Order: sequence, then C-alpha cells, then structure tokens
Amino acid sequence: MTDPSRLIDRVRFSLVCSDCDAGMDIECLDHAAAEGWSDIDYAPDLPMANFIGLCPDCREAFGHWPTQEQND
Ligand SMILES: [Zn+2]
Repeated sequence: MTDPSRLIDRVRFSLVCSDCDAGMDIECLDHAAAEGWSDIDYAPDLPMANFIGLCPDCREAFGHWPTQEQND
C-alpha cells in the first residue's frame, strides 16, 4: 500500500523560494501555507531544498507587476 503522505514524511521537509533565499525557517507544508506561501511544488532535484514555492514577499511583488501594464 503506497501512501503519498508517508513518502513525503520520510523526506526531511525543506523549502526555498523560487525568487529569493526565503524558506529556510519553514518546517512543513502547513507552516508554509500559514505564512502565505503559494505555488509549492515537490522538487527532489534541488540542491538546497526539496520543495520550491513562492514566498509571501515575492508573491506580493509579482502581484504588482501586471497593474503597471494595465495603466497604459
Ligand atoms: Zn521570495
């Protein structure tokens, strides 16, 4: 019987932002969600973390970009 949540349990959770160095203080997926992270993906090939996501700060920065185009 293969339970995906057990598979992830065996891997030590570590998270890094796709756009900055944030994430080292995040301990689990629930913690990440509570902090406002989004787009979290399992990334076993990363050298420094096994999950990649978008931290709250960068998510906010991304959210501001499209409004500049709309002002034109
Ligand atoms: Zn970030």
